[in-house]
Amino acid sequence: PARIPHHHRGILGYCKALGVPLEVQVNENRAALLQASTGPVPQRRVQADLRGLIAELAAKGLERGTLEAPLDEPDLEALRAMLRRFGALGADHRYHGSSRAGWDRPPGAGPEAPRALPPLDARLLLEPTLWAGAAFTEGVDYAATMLQPVGGMDRIAAALATALGEALVPGAEVVSLRRGEAGARVRWRGADGMREETAAQVLITLPAPLLARLDTDLPEARRAGLAALHYSSAAKLAFHCARRFWEEDHAIYGGISWTPGEATQLWYPSHGFHAEGGILTGAYIWDDDLGERFAARGPAGRAAAIAADGEALHPGLGREVSAPVSVAWSRMPRAGGAWAEWTTAQRRDLYPLLRSPEGPYHFAGEYLSWLTGWQEGAVLSAWNALEGMA
Ligand SMILES: Cc1cc2nc3c(=O)[nH]c(=O)nc-3n(C[C@H](O)[C@H](O)[C@H](O)COP(=O)(O)OP(=O)(O)OC[C@H]3O[C@@H](n4cnc5c(N)ncnc54)[C@H](O)[C@@H]3O)c2cc1C
Repeated sequence: PARIPHHHRGILGYCKALGVPLEVQVNENRAALLQASTGPVPQRRVQADLRGLIAELAAKGLERGTLEAPLDEPDLEALRAMLRRFGALGADHRYHGSSRAGWDRPPGAGPEAPRALPPLDARLLLEPTLWAGAAFTEGVDYAATMLQPVGGMDRIAAALATALGEALVPGAEVVSLRRGEAGARVRWRGADGMREETAAQVLITLPAPLLARLDTDLPEARRAGLAALHYSSAAKLAFHCARRFWEEDHAIYGGISWTPGEATQLWYPSHGFHAEGGILTGAYIWDDDLGERFAARGPAGRAAAIAADGEALHPGLGREVSAPVSVAWSRMPRAGGAWAEWTTAQRRDLYPLLRSPEGPYHFAGEYLSWLTGWQEGAVLSAWNALEGMA
């Protein structure tokens, strides 16, 4: 995980209670790039021109009287005023370009007035990478303010581990679960061999695919349901860069660029601005087909494919990156996939079964929430399960 929306109060509450310092995660950066068929375009230009296009089309619709809503003249005037501001339209209700898109000739101290970039060809704006990238942070879980723990997301786990002390046994692997008269027997493998514990209640937080395969006496219907849940094949790859070329050459400070290639997204670090070097997330893939294609490659093949995608966004990137590290969650033995993706039918038919306790067994995890793929989902699910155990 990389980012925390400001309204994920559960996980942020733990950060506060455990003293995990936070900093801003730059999820949207108008200087970041969207890869069009003609080359990379800064997001600010796509945002401005898309709004200009939509506003102009709407204004033309008003002129032709094609609007079906019953609006009187004061309403229409208010609508036109809104459209002019929304799309940076001229007094003629046409979009002629705007400094929102950036400068063709930037403002300086010379004799010539600055000049805004001309509008992009509207057909270019219809390329999915452009409009999807431009709309990305409209999602409630992606909009500012986004946060990240100083030092990385594992600072939360480390702080929790410190708070739990000896109650936590790192590296312990549960190998089987059985019901007994006094509750449930848990067999687990620790650093010094096999152990067994009996407990009146057990909270099981393994990801669904792993719990489905674990040696348990859970009923067949639950095991089949756990196995039927689809988990995303998301993957990431990061490079070390000796030089922050994105800051030095492009004034990109944090944020995300988009490519229609396998890499999908390229993330710039939100911290350490102007430091000597930095870690560039060269790929964040979540489409299953792309994720599986990426996962099937060896480490060198993954790095080469992602560097090639990055090269299109940042010509010369291949010479700047080194030490690639990648994770394909579908290949992670302790994860079994990235996150659960419920179908509508499964939400209706399976979700009630999987979230309900069963004798001594209680269940929690991101997959048992409506916020799958977010730590907040795991927190809310755990709190929900604990209520049932009280
Ligand atoms: C690529 C990716 C990006 C993400 N980005 C974000 C983000 O930006 N922000 C955000 O909030 N969330 C993000 N998430 C989601 C977040 O990581 C999860 O929602 C969260 O980690 C789920 O917590 P959990 O406790 O349900 O499961 P997990 O974190 O998977 O914990 C399950 C634990 O069970 C352990 N385990 C497995 N088998 C056994 C066994 N047999 N015995 C003992 N232990 C076992 C595993 O080692 C693991 O520690 C992302 C996830 C992925 C994969």
